Amino acid sequence: MTVRLRPHHLLCMLTFIGKGYTAAFTENYRLIAKRLSAGEDILIVEGPDDICAPMLGETDHHCLCDSVTERDLKSSEAVEALLGMPAGPGVSIHPDADFLARMRKAFRAGFLRDGCARCEWSPLCTGIAASGFEDVLVVSPGG
Ligand code: SF4
Repeated sequence: MTVRLRPHHLLCMLTFIGKGYTAAFTENYRLIAKRLSAGEDILIVEGPDDICAPMLGETDHHCLCDSVTERDLKSSEAVEALLGMPAGPGVSIHPDADFLARMRKAFRAGFLRDGCARCEWSPLCTGIAASGFEDVLVVSPGG
């Protein structure tokens, strides 16, 4: 199995501690966090992904907004610059300990945060990074 993620969710998964828009959203996200923590690969996709899925039936979701597409583009560029490899739709990533550590170090330093501009969750994510990613639910396999 592969977890389908849009580019900016490569950032969001670093700070997920179980909070989110709706109960269905967080329940689904917790299952995805478990799958990633068990070592399932990520397939980067364009547009709504496995994390977005429960929101698509809501009337006020923003999964298809231009601002979110822009967030994906900026996140993709930042991840590419960090890892020195493509990070756009069609690319597979194995979320091992090294990947998560490199991503979290860069996120905490602010290097990956261009895509976070105007996100309502930004103060929460900044605080989680500042805490050393305490209580996050995506961890390295076995970690
Ligand atoms: S601030 Fe928003 S876009 Fe950035 S990681 Fe947090 S939830 Fe994701």
